[in-house]
Amino acid sequence: MASIELKAVEKWFGELQVIKGVDLAIEEGEFIIFVGPSGCGKSTLLRTIAGLEECSRGEILIEGRNVTADPPASRGLAMVFQSYALYPHMNVRDNMGFGLKTAGTPKAEIEEKVNEAARALKLETYLDRKPKELSGGQRQRVAIGRSIVRNPTAFMFDEPLSNLDAALRVEMRYELAKLHRELKATMIYVTHDQVEAMTLADRIVVLRDGIIEQVGSPRTLYERPGNLFVAQFIGSPK
Ligand code: ADP
Ligand code: MG
Repeated sequence: MASIELKAVEKWFGELQVIKGVDLAIEEGEFIIFVGPSGCGKSTLLRTIAGLEECSRGEILIEGRNVTADPPASRGLAMVFQSYALYPHMNVRDNMGFGLKTAGTPKAEIEEKVNEAARALKLETYLDRKPKELSGGQRQRVAIGRSIVRNPTAFMFDEPLSNLDAALRVEMRYELAKLHRELKATMIYVTHDQVEAMTLADRIVVLRDGIIEQVGSPRTLYERPGNLFVAQFIGSPK
């Protein structure tokens, strides 16, 4: 069963149609990346899947369950915010447990979940450190750790590396790829950076003006782009 399924999804902002009938099945464990030029609807599509935007038409299924009308919190998806959104005055343990604490989870359960997440993320020996005492990659893991404690069906990222300088971006890209291999989690990722998409994705979804132009592995898109737009966007020699 596909982890997340979109059926003829449309998003309108008043008279403006931004997502124009998207069909897509995202498999469990897949690293899927939405690419396309600025303004093509990547963030809106991600936010609609997460329930942060209302889906105007069509259906969204998560693990077979129709969640189209459900609020974000009940969808089991985690939006991962940039690692600099960590609380600087809190250590890693408290950063990772913060969401559970505000949700009223009992202390013992928080501790258990944070320890479990720290093991999965290889952060066990860093639990007492503050964010500024960590590397960029470790901070990224803590940002993911905040949502992992809720056992999400998928992690969602919207241009998480866009504000970093080039060298750090390359390092973080490598760290993300490693993390995906370790966790084997479903990741839905938005970027306008072709190189990022080509190096990270199992499959790339190329969007243009609210429509999917092509879906395929980086290699397929590079070697067999479906049209000139995809070829030019991906940078293949066609
Ligand atoms: P991308 O992430 O690919 O750059 P967006 O999804 O942010 O694109 O935006 C797609 C289009 O939807 C743009 O034309 C943008 O102006 C419009 N849009 C996004 N959010 C809103 C909103 N809340 N109200 C009206 N228009 C919006
Ligand atoms: Mg965007």
